[in-house]
Amino acid sequence: MTEKFDVIVIGAGPGGYVAAIRAAQLGLNTACIDMNTGKDGKAALGGTCLNVGCIPSKALLDSSKHYHHVKNDFATHGINVTDVSIDIDTMIARKDAVVSKLTGGVAQLFKANKIKQYHGRGRLLANRQVEFTAHTSSEKTVLEAENIILAAGSVPITIPNVEYDNEYIIDNEGALQLTEVPPRLGVIGAGVIGLELGSVWQRLGSKVTLLEALPSLLPTADQDISKQAGRAFKKQGLDIRLDTLVKSASITGDTIKVSLEDKNGESEISFDRLLVAVGRKPNTEGLLADDSGVELNKRGQIEVNHQSQTKLEGVWAVGDCVRGPMLAHKASEEGIAVAELIAGKAAHIHFDTVPWVIYTDPEIAWVGKTEQQLKEQGVSYHVGSFPFAATGRGLAMGNADGMVKMLADADTDEILGVHIIGPGASELIAECVVTMEFHGASEDLARIIHAHPTLSEAIHEAALHVDKRAIHRGN
Ligand code: FAD
Ligand code: NAD
Repeated sequence: MTEKFDVIVIGAGPGGYVAAIRAAQLGLNTACIDMNTGKDGKAALGGTCLNVGCIPSKALLDSSKHYHHVKNDFATHGINVTDVSIDIDTMIARKDAVVSKLTGGVAQLFKANKIKQYHGRGRLLANRQVEFTAHTSSEKTVLEAENIILAAGSVPITIPNVEYDNEYIIDNEGALQLTEVPPRLGVIGAGVIGLELGSVWQRLGSKVTLLEALPSLLPTADQDISKQAGRAFKKQGLDIRLDTLVKSASITGDTIKVSLEDKNGESEISFDRLLVAVGRKPNTEGLLADDSGVELNKRGQIEVNHQSQTKLEGVWAVGDCVRGPMLAHKASEEGIAVAELIAGKAAHIHFDTVPWVIYTDPEIAWVGKTEQQLKEQGVSYHVGSFPFAATGRGLAMGNADGMVKMLADADTDEILGVHIIGPGASELIAECVVTMEFHGASEDLARIIHAHPTLSEAIHEAALHVDKRAIHRGN
């Protein structure tokens, strides 16, 4: 007999597992199918984010930051440490332990919420049926549900003439598993993954070269921020080559030779490892039967409306496999919204206030519009900014590079965007997201008491500076 559910979710990344938990909380009989397998051969829930994305990369970013600080910054605090060394195996094992704790935590939450977990591949058939192939066998079972949520996530994009071999030419998964520091690490793509994982291995001792096709770094960030970031990364020793087109890569012995073309013509450069980080694409291979009725758009994304509904009644899609930024928190909020809509509740996602955070040092975070977008859209705005170098806390910490930049509507003073580069940017942005969600003005933030001495005073001062009345800088 076909097993029936109220909701079947395919994919247990931050989009799928969060949708499943919320659906179960709302009293819906829920199943979740995920094909990811951990090192122990068992199901490892949490998708890209927990297994090979957000979490392991942040674990290594923190470990490598500690090492970098001990070597480079402690002496200025009067702390002299000699014989500093790194143990990559321990660092990787710590990262793996963090990942296991979190993936195990999701499994526990599934149990606690009585979500039926299937380890294997799911495929959408017609009539709201799902074919399940177990991880350990080729036997197929058909399941049925009133509602199906597709949350299949994304996979790395490949480029012509550069083939992954998962030892020398690697993707994010390989770059999170290196067993030693490569003397020369090449990175194709100076996007978010290239900058974060490039920073990890650069801090640990690699000479890191990023080959970026575009003429500017982080083109979607506010240009003042991306310029500051470029200067900071250069100072750290990251060699970022813009306007550089990779033609091919080949492995000879232990060396990877990359042919490239830049403004000086064609040349070749050698590396010990090559990370390819040129973007990700929706993971829809094998997900949809020919007669499933679900459509993909030109970008290979599952076509959905603003409420994550496909054209088929009862079939929804969320996260990296649909439109919008490929971010874990965006996927989770979509998952929650869909579960609530299925349960007959109201739900809404504000795509205009999805925060972005890049966990380099300095951290970069933003929400809302950039100055270039406001110019393009002909919106009149006022700008306020404040450097962390003028905050007591930043100076006391010995980490005061960067600034906060705030953009507010010239007529209404409503905040339209906030852009931060500097210490604690990942946490500071939350205050700005909340203010924007409530359609707050720069004047609101200017009148709110911010504790002293904190980094958040830079936000307060940037808000005051929108009206040219900052206290600790010239206006
Ligand atoms: P995924 O997390 O990709 O999960 C999809 C799951 O579905 C996977 O487990 C997959 O195996 C499974 N699946 C797919 N097809 C099937 C099928 N047919 N049957 C069964 N199972 C299937 N985002 C942030 O917000 N912050 C960060 O700091 C951050 N860092 C990142 C660092 C790296 C190195 C990478 C690669 C990504 C990072 N991201 C980050 C992006 C983030 O990981 C994704 O946006 C997020 O994981 C998307 O969630 P999802 O649920 O849509 O898909
Ligand atoms: P990305 O889109 O951020 O960057 C890819 C870069 O590669 C771009 O700058 C692009 O111009 C460049 N590029 C593309 N083709 C190229 C080529 N042939 N040669 C040289 N350069 C080329 O993609 P990513 O870094 O792979 O990350 C994928 C996605 O994962 C991100 O967009 C983001 O959504 C998510 N992510 C988020 C975080 C975070 O939130 N902190 C961290 C990592 C990844």
